[in-house]
Amino acid sequence: MQIMKAAVFHKINNISVDNVPDPGIEEADDIIVRVTSTAICGSDLHIYDGFVPQARDMVLGHEFMGIVEETGPGVTQVKKGDRVVVPFTIACGQCFFCQQGFHPNCEHTNPKHYGPRGDLLKQKGGGMFGYTDLYGGYNGGQSEYVRVPKANAGPRVIPDGLDDDQVLFLTDIFPTGWSAVKWGKVKQGDTVVIFGSGPVGLMAQKAAWLHGAERVIAVDPLEYRLEKARTVNKVDTLNSEDDDLIDKIYEMTNGIGADVAIDAVGMEANRNFFEKAKAVLNAEKGTSKVIELCTEAVRRSGTISVVGVYASPYDNFPIHRIFDKGLIMQFGQAQVHMYIDQCFEMVRTGRVTLDDIITHKLPLSQASEAYDMFKEKKDLCVKVVLKPELDRY
Ligand code: NAD
Ligand code: ZN
Ligand code: ZN
Repeated sequence: MQIMKAAVFHKINNISVDNVPDPGIEEADDIIVRVTSTAICGSDLHIYDGFVPQARDMVLGHEFMGIVEETGPGVTQVKKGDRVVVPFTIACGQCFFCQQGFHPNCEHTNPKHYGPRGDLLKQKGGGMFGYTDLYGGYNGGQSEYVRVPKANAGPRVIPDGLDDDQVLFLTDIFPTGWSAVKWGKVKQGDTVVIFGSGPVGLMAQKAAWLHGAERVIAVDPLEYRLEKARTVNKVDTLNSEDDDLIDKIYEMTNGIGADVAIDAVGMEANRNFFEKAKAVLNAEKGTSKVIELCTEAVRRSGTISVVGVYASPYDNFPIHRIFDKGLIMQFGQAQVHMYIDQCFEMVRTGRVTLDDIITHKLPLSQASEAYDMFKEKKDLCVKVVLKPELDRY
């Protein structure tokens, strides 16, 4: 058995790069990919911080690309030597949900924990790479090699001429920002307010412009991330710590509110002492405050789109305001399989640049330091890409 290096989650705040066995082909439609680039996502932090539980050791990482090293006998869509990006949700491409483009709800990739009713610990959606036993127990791609199941449905071959950094984010965050904008029904002339200016928020800003938005407003507590948004995406910015945040959004929208509000923050939004205490009393994971802010910031009959992750019920949720204002809402894991080809075309034709959000490129062996830096927002970190090959020089 061969041994490779991989970023292994052990327990909260504890990830180390360990020697683990190489993955092998298990099903006829599996491939093995030699990873050339892999990124750390805000979703990985939910595991790292313990908001999404994982009891046993697991290789993390759902944003990765690389070279096809080996193919199972049933693989028809890619071949050895192809360079591929891989969507972060694992989907069969055939079932009721996949046929309609709702691949994150695939019925065939999370045999132990899939359930139609959806609950905290037993009935989840389809599988995801490196995203706990609840979502299929698959090892992820923050490693030298990764097993990719359902390889006839997910991986996309990338032509020469586009380097890894230009296309890596097709695996998750650009199609996630794109999904957020599609769910928000953004159209020509809209004002879109986007909470969170981390990697996902930055991608949603790009997608909002590409859908014809007239004004894009980024909101975040971190000035350096707002600065990044102004520089790379030419958006307006507001600081979420500002007491007059919602007033300012109304001032910027002729007193009616934004047409569309997007939550690209999720349950780990900044909280004060009282908000933390409330969460403990109510057994809530983090807070739903950003969705609540969305309900305030959006205009009547507007749309809210939530790609930030939530993992528990929340009391005192302002359902009254959603009803009174007549709001439309859509939530969920992004429809990467559905939108990846459209998103790729945007990159190929030069209509969008994705690699301008990368602040750090590190060898895979520094994954532990990279998690700490991304979580603690050290060194003006926005997005870290890990490259196994940097360890070989
Ligand atoms: P991130 O943690 O880097 O970004 C979150 C940003 O929100 C940070 O910049 C933080 O400063 C900011 N923030 C905190 N409190 C805020 C507040 N009250 N108002 C406005 N901004 C606030 O992570 P990311 O990689 O950008 O991911 C963002 C979210 O998207 C996470 O919850 C992640 O799990 C989720 N995500 C979902 C999908 C999906 O398919 N739905 C895919 C990828 C990521
Ligand atoms: Zn992700
Ligand atoms: Zn399916």
